[in-house]
Amino acid sequence: MLTNLSQNDPKIAKAIKNELNRQQNVIELIPSENFVSTAVLEALGSVLTNKYSEGYPGNRYYGGTENVDIVEQLAIDRAKQLFGAEHVNVQSLSGAPANIAAYFAILKPGDTILGMDLSHGGHLTHGHPVTSMSKIFNFIRYKTDKETGLIDYDNLLQMAKEHQPKLILVGYSAYSREIDYQKVKEIADEVGALTMADIAHIAGIIAGGKMNNPVLLFDIVTTTTHKTLRGPRGGMIMCKEKWASQVDKAVFPGLQGGPHEHNIAAKAVAFKEALQPEFKEYAGQILKNAKALENKLKEHNFEIMFVTTENHLLLIDVTNKNLTGKQAQDLLDKVGITCNKNMIPDDPRKPMDPSGIRLGTPAMTTRGFKEAEFELVGDFITQTLENPEDDALHQQIKQEILELTGKFPLYPELN
Ligand SMILES: *Cc1c(COP(=O)(O)O)cnc(C)c1O
Repeated sequence: MLTNLSQNDPKIAKAIKNELNRQQNVIELIPSENFVSTAVLEALGSVLTNKYSEGYPGNRYYGGTENVDIVEQLAIDRAKQLFGAEHVNVQSLSGAPANIAAYFAILKPGDTILGMDLSHGGHLTHGHPVTSMSKIFNFIRYKTDKETGLIDYDNLLQMAKEHQPKLILVGYSAYSREIDYQKVKEIADEVGALTMADIAHIAGIIAGGKMNNPVLLFDIVTTTTHKTLRGPRGGMIMCKEKWASQVDKAVFPGLQGGPHEHNIAAKAVAFKEALQPEFKEYAGQILKNAKALENKLKEHNFEIMFVTTENHLLLIDVTNKNLTGKQAQDLLDKVGITCNKNMIPDDPRKPMDPSGIRLGTPAMTTRGFKEAEFELVGDFITQTLENPEDDALHQQIKQEILELTGKFPLYPELN
């Protein structure tokens, strides 16, 4: 593998090989990561990367687009089928630019957006002060209820009445509960606001029919294609027909230049995979595995945020184990478990060393892990974090993890 690259650029080839090795040998629990199929990789590595095609299928600024038109139309049609969308734009380069384009498609600078507080699971692009969007739009933040772990819908209604937002935004990066889109839509209707869902994390579970689908109900829905949807790194916008031309114009020429057709081809391949019956099973297994991991960690007195998980991820406060999020992440790294440190709701600590860690099941579910393996993972995590000084134990766990991951081969054909 990488024959030409190894000859022409051995340094890059070596880093790629080492990364393949790393992915094969660790337990990957970052909830936003996944492993694409080799078919997706082939589309990504194709000659489509050479082609300029500003515009949309059948209506381009460049000649020679007959093949990329087929590719992009297939991606659009399959996404429509997958989510029941009226209109789809598959050109967004990633989740963040998809959100930016979505805001500009339906809002004007200065408009008020009601989105979730970052420490309660919202995303940076939902108005964090460090982002450029926070200087253009007026973001107001709602929170979850501490007792139930659910979105505080009563408070959301109150805030909507008080702030009269143009847009109510749901969809999160670190929130583990289901969303009542119907209720959000009712609140939006009551104050005359538009509705947007950012399903970046849970798109694959929705496509697999295992979580509520906001696409039929909401004005606009954005997503990444590389998280649970298991496609290439990228973004996508779905909307009601009435927003179609505004969305397309906001993506190109509003925000972006030429579309990345190799990436769009890989999206189409992933969507076809997600339309197969096996993908429904995959989505269901993601949820079962998250439950298995949750139950094991609860047994060991880990503190699960938002009470429980109803999706693919767990946000855990590790301070009752006398660790910070960063310490926990580093310890798990040592034994071969990859996760990320994360803020917990109203975290008193700082983002670079917060109180929590975030764990997710999509990637290892792709590798074939089921409940039994995730119970083992729960035990590995517990032993590691409860014995932070025990190097011998860490070495032993690392060995056990190597043996376990070896039983679930990843990309054997790429070795
Ligand atoms: C991951 C994520 C994004 C951003 O996606 P990128 O591809 O990293 O730009 C946006 N919104 C939510 C909710 C996400 O989880």
